[in-house]
Amino acid sequence: MSYDESPQSVRRRSGRSSLTVAVAALVPGALAGWLVYQGTSGAESGGPPSATAAGTPSAATAPAPSPTPSADPSADPGSDPDPGPPGPPPPPDRPLTGKVVVIDPGHNPTNRDHPAEINKPVDIGTTSKECDTTGTATDSGYAEAAFTLDVSHRLRTLLRELGATVTLTQDADRPFGPCVDERARIGNKAKADAVISVHADGSASGNRGFHVILPALVKGGAADTAAIVGPSRELGERIAGNFARETGSAPANYLGGGTGLDVREDLGGLNLSKVPKVFVECGNMRDSHDAALLTAPEWRQKAAQGLADGIKGFLMK
Ligand code: ZN
Repeated sequence: MSYDESPQSVRRRSGRSSLTVAVAALVPGALAGWLVYQGTSGAESGGPPSATAAGTPSAATAPAPSPTPSADPSADPGSDPDPGPPGPPPPPDRPLTGKVVVIDPGHNPTNRDHPAEINKPVDIGTTSKECDTTGTATDSGYAEAAFTLDVSHRLRTLLRELGATVTLTQDADRPFGPCVDERARIGNKAKADAVISVHADGSASGNRGFHVILPALVKGGAADTAAIVGPSRELGERIAGNFARETGSAPANYLGGGTGLDVREDLGGLNLSKVPKVFVECGNMRDSHDAALLTAPEWRQKAAQGLADGIKGFLMK
């Protein structure tokens, strides 16, 4: 789930055709996979949600961040200022050779046993936030922390097959956390080319679908996202489109205006990142329809494939 859930209102869907146009206009290309799916399968019972659906300030209304002309490229820790002589091209079947991806499985299965530790505030630059949270679960008790690790393992396998160097921020190998600030630092220290934080949401029943959370432009303390807002949006749009295509899931019907994208300024894991990073909320664990997907290993493999395809597209652009 998101680290700070805010009440969401849900509006009923309206007509599909006009919304398809709206979605396409709002996020050119980002959801092409989903639209293709809609156009070819007809299996999804509903169209995309209203483009006017309530939500946080979202991709629907936020202008696409411009590249950061004021940013000093040499200050970007994600790029090597002196890459040296070019090496041999990556093998065709391992196109991500030389790329570094950090996967951040949300929460930790034993966070629940360490309330004092995970509730301790940490500095996220703009404010302070609890170290970590327990995450949500389906009504049948399938924990988000188990889901995030499962999808992360599948994603790691896929990315390694493509040649990428992959690190997990946690692998149920520590009693709690890491705290959100440390999760960000792990990606920074690795000089990751892309970081993805894997989650599933804990919203109201009836709220369905996936969304990708992008960093807002923030500056304060150790937080300064100016250099990552643009590339993170590109990463997120590619993930959203590929996730929709692989899973057949629709963008969230309860936020993001039907784009499958949301922009947040309150997440330490994004605010403190110095490398392109997004969160993915793969579905809503508290909705019975989404829960049936999230608890199915076959669907989780599709989810991992969609994430891998999106990351691959971003890294090979
Ligand atoms: Zn979560």
